[in-house]
Amino acid sequence: MLSNSLVELDRRHLVHPVSSFRGHEARGVRILTGAKGATVTDAESRELIDGFAGLWCVNAGYGHESVVEAAAEQMRQLPYATGYFDLGAEAPIKLAAELAERAPGDLNHIYFSLGGSDAVDSTIRFVRYYWYSKGQPERDQFISVEQGYHGSTTMGAGLTALPGFHEGFGVPYSWQHKISSHYTYRNPLKTDAEIIAASVAELKAKVEAIGPEKVAAFYVEPIQGSGGVLVPPKGWVKAMRDACKEMGILFIADEVITGFGRTGPLFCCEEEDIVPDLMTTAKGLTSGYVPMGAVFMSDHVYETIAEGAGAKAVGHGFTYSAHPVSAAVALEVLKLYEGGLLENGRKAGARLMEGLQGLSDHPLVGDVRGRGMLAAIELVTDKDKKTPLPASVQPATRLFDRAWEQGLVIRSFAQGIFGYAPPLCCTMEEIDQIVDRTRKVLDLTLEDP
Ligand code: PMP
Repeated sequence: MLSNSLVELDRRHLVHPVSSFRGHEARGVRILTGAKGATVTDAESRELIDGFAGLWCVNAGYGHESVVEAAAEQMRQLPYATGYFDLGAEAPIKLAAELAERAPGDLNHIYFSLGGSDAVDSTIRFVRYYWYSKGQPERDQFISVEQGYHGSTTMGAGLTALPGFHEGFGVPYSWQHKISSHYTYRNPLKTDAEIIAASVAELKAKVEAIGPEKVAAFYVEPIQGSGGVLVPPKGWVKAMRDACKEMGILFIADEVITGFGRTGPLFCCEEEDIVPDLMTTAKGLTSGYVPMGAVFMSDHVYETIAEGAGAKAVGHGFTYSAHPVSAAVALEVLKLYEGGLLENGRKAGARLMEGLQGLSDHPLVGDVRGRGMLAAIELVTDKDKKTPLPASVQPATRLFDRAWEQGLVIRSFAQGIFGYAPPLCCTMEEIDQIVDRTRKVLDLTLEDP
């Protein structure tokens, strides 16, 4: 069978570090053969609703002919022009201008990367260039938040604060510091005001402990994604942004997941009412059709680097920075968002949250949280004590498999959290099916953990 031989070839030759390095007893890869809208088809011709938009990225949904056409047309006309040096092409220039117009505040300068990790990685260098240009090169310490994910390049993984990314391999991350996550469900503090005050105090204490003149920047996801869709209390992001301003350190919003309609508006920072100094995006930028990320720089960051580092060669860029085909795709995807997808995503997101809230009375559901088309439920065996599912349930695999059997692709996190990030094009019926299928998975798990 096609799928069996592919699974075997994959096992032998294609490295997926997350699973392959666990040894060959790891279960085989699942093969997808096609997709349309919010539905994917597997090698057995079964159709499943993709409740996770690939890897939180196919925001516009699958199979948009206009996107395919935009890519094909760009390939015919000019498949490549380097964005590394001063050679340009129309599509990335137009895209940068369109994005700058829509970005919060004065985030007017765009650097295109290949994805999220190298966007974050690039910001680490830009931040260093910024402080160098300001005559403060000693500012080389960075702070991020526990449970945060900022990519898996070597530097980005340093900011990432999830187990398994750099523990135990001796990679040096002495420049990296973390503060606790707000993780409201498991936070011993009860009110939003208390949680916000504690985070601000912890950030300030951390800066003091490192030495205020040494801290370069604070990185944060407006909603922590890979940590388990952890939504901060209202006002938390703004309070952290204000604290950074007060202390004179740069604030970087990592919107790789939350950007491009995932939480409702084009950028989550808009609804948090903040303008970061730098912002990273990827995923929804091209909706996963081709790789691309974008770093947004505010006027003052850009101008400081341009003036201060001007005399020095700033050797940064990739062969595929500002790739014309990716840019052509992103331009088309932007049209789709504004031609109704953002609006549909907002309606579908409200329906998703309502549906998931309806699962709150299930004996296994301890918490329901999210915003827009980004949501999670957290499973527990005892609601009062918030007891996590036992490791024997292996939430990351067993629950994922069960959902798959029900025709639903979700992300199941190790702690027993189901994450949802469906394409913004989902119909209301598809949203209802996502919720119904989830309930079936929960019932089955209750009967047979
Ligand atoms: N930042 C955040 C917030 C992310 O969620 C991710 C990926 N999940 C990344 C950075 C890294 O992006 P990529 O996988 O495209 O390198």
